[in-house]
Formats: sequence, structure tokens, C-alpha cells
Amino acid sequence: MPETNIYFENNANLEKLKDKKIVIIGYGNQGRAQALNLRDSGLDVIIGNKEDSYKEKAMKDGFETFNISEAVKRADIVFLLTPDETMPDMFEKEIEPNLKDGACINFASGYNIAFNLINPPDNIDVIMIAPRMIGVGVRENYLNGEGFYSFIGVHQEVTGNAKEILLALAKALGTLKKGGVEISMKQEAILDLFNEQAFGPAFGRVLLTCIKVLINNGLPPEAVLIEMYMSNEMSYTYQKMAQIGLVKQTNFHSHTSQYGAMSRGVRYRKLPLEEKMQKSFDEIASGKFAKEWSGKVSKLKFKIIKYFAMKQEINKIEQEVRKNLKLKDFDVYSAPENIEELLKKPDVKNELKSIMDSFEF
Ligand code: NDP
Repeated sequence: MPETNIYFENNANLEKLKDKKIVIIGYGNQGRAQALNLRDSGLDVIIGNKEDSYKEKAMKDGFETFNISEAVKRADIVFLLTPDETMPDMFEKEIEPNLKDGACINFASGYNIAFNLINPPDNIDVIMIAPRMIGVGVRENYLNGEGFYSFIGVHQEVTGNAKEILLALAKALGTLKKGGVEISMKQEAILDLFNEQAFGPAFGRVLLTCIKVLINNGLPPEAVLIEMYMSNEMSYTYQKMAQIGLVKQTNFHSHTSQYGAMSRGVRYRKLPLEEKMQKSFDEIASGKFAKEWSGKVSKLKFKIIKYFAMKQEINKIEQEVRKNLKLKDFDVYSAPENIEELLKKPDVKNELKSIMDSFEF
């Protein structure tokens, strides 16, 4: 196996950022957390954002704020922290025309570079610090001194300082307390999408199948959902996997549990998962998925898939269970008003049946 480069605090020097003006574009989940961490590490940080509540929040937090173009003009280092799908257009219109020669751009995700949706000019450094942590966690783990993992790397080196700048920024963000693992932007994008497109759906299907079998065999839905995920027991198991080891954490479970899981586990070893996962991997790595998602039809398909996902039987079961457990019901979805028209569109009609079939409980 090739050796992986992993960086810690002693590999970085904050002096490299002396007199550098850092601009955070997008004061959202990651933007706010990263801006606060960098400022608390003693760096010069300003914010670029559209006129809205995020900008007001940045001002309330005491940051100097500008519109995006004005902020970029002032920057030595630009953190692009708006949603990935907004970046290509914004980069073309507001970022690239205003960048200083020799500036450095930092991405928190490899997606746009990996799939050529942004092609940066050749007079700037391009780096990546992609936290494996939600924004709130980026801030919390900076404040409590624990740090968080990130995938980091230099994509384009022009000034000769990109690596040192990368490591200094990573240290200032607090991620090198835990570790920065060096990978390419393409590798980061593949990992991220593979987790979402292979692990997520496969795990979801396993969960739903278990729920179905248990309810069909007469177990009360309240008990089933608590057992399967509502108790939070599974998230503790996940924490223990990270702390102690994937298999070693089984020591925290009873002997009956360990014997049952290990002796019966063989039944599930030969599930035809690897072939399907390889297909997901190939689709992602070849750029096929990114191309599909950039197309107009996908936005339409997304609305329809989401509509059917929200109509799944499990949502009804869950609503009833939550009511009986006296829990709040979160209304997080409203169907598009024109959904009936959308369903008749020729572009999506052909795919409709397979989508509906796949959402059967
Ligand atoms: P958010 O959805 O929280 O970003 C919101 C910010 O982007 C707001 O400031 C918003 O301002 C601005 N914004 C939204 N649309 C536009 C637009 N069209 N033009 C200009 N500004 C816009 O993003 P995240 O923090 O979730 O993600 C930022 C980056 O971090 C992404 O690359 C993501 O992949 C990466 N990342 C995210 C993680 C997470 O847990 N969320 C984890 C690791 C990486 P306004 O309201 O004015 O539009």
C-alpha cells in the first residue's frame, strides 16, 4: 500500500499567514465556523456574502463584510464556502475576474474541480481543506481543543508556497489537532459521493427491510423504531467503532449479542453488494454522475424522486409512532405546487415507474 501523508500541528507554521487577508465567501454552515476559528487563531478574516440574513449574522459576529466581488478584490486567500452547485456560476462572474495574481483559493470539497465544473486560472494556487465534520462540529471541536479530521491537498501550485499555506490554514482551523490526511480533490469527491450513493442507500435499505420484517411479524411499530434507530443506541455503537475499532467494539455488547451476530452474520456475507457498489464507484469516478446532476432534467427528477421518498410508508408509520411517543413531528417537506404537471413531463415519465417501484416499502 502506498504511504499516506498525514499532517499534525507540528508540521505547520502560522507565520506563513502573517499579513495575509483571508476572505470567507458564504457565511453558512462551514463559513461561519471556519471564519470564527481562523479569527480566534489570530488571523485577518473578512466576509463576502450576498445581502441577506447570513450577511447580517456575519456583521453581528463582528466581521467586516462586503459583497462577493469586493471581498475577493481584497483577498490573498479565498475560502469558497457556498453550496457546491452555486460555485461554478459564482466563480466565473464574481470570483475569477477579481482575483489577485498569485492569490490562493481554498475549497472545502473537491467536487467542482474533480469534475471540471470549475477550471481555475493558472496564476493562482488551488488548495483543499475538506472537513469530515459539520460546521457546528468544526466550531465546537476547535473550542474544546479536540480538533476534527480533514482531507487536505494542493491541487495547483504556482507561488511555491501553496503547501505551507495549506498546512498553516489547516492548523488555524483546528483540524491538525486531530489530523489532515493528504488526498487529491478527485479522491475527496469520490469518497464523499460514494458514501452518499453506496453506503447511505444500502444502509437505508437494510434498515427499512428490518423494520418491514419486524412489523409484518406483529411487533409494535413504536418498539421497532426505537430498537432500530430512535433510541440512539446505534450512534453510540458508531462512536465506539471510531474510538476502539469496527469489530473490537463488539466487546461492549453482551455475549449473547456477540455470539448471535457472529454466528448468524455469515448469512449476510454474500449479499450482492460489491458489484452494485463498484457500479456506483465507476459512475462517480468517470464523472457520469456529476454530468447527470449538472443537467436540467436531473433537477426535475430530483423533485419527483423526493416527492415519492416523502410518500413512502415509513413516513406514515413514523408520524404515528412519534405522536404516540409524544414527540414533535417535523414538517420539513412541502411538495412542489406543480407536482401533477411534473409527473406528466415526457422527460421523467419513463423513469417514473422504476422510481415508484423502488420506493415500495
Ligand atoms: P451552506 O449551505 O451553509 O452555505 C450557505 C452560504 O452560501 C450562505 O452564506 C449563503 O448566502 C451562500 N450562498 C448560497 N447560495 C449562494 C449563491 N447562489 N451565491 C452566493 N452565495 C450563496 O454551505 P455549507 O457550509 O454546507 O457548504 C459549503 C462548502 O463546504 C461546500 O463546498 C460543501 O461541500 C463543504 N462542506 C460542507 C460540510 C457540511 O457539513 N455542511 C462538510 C464539509 C464540507 P445567501 O443566503 O446569501 O445565498
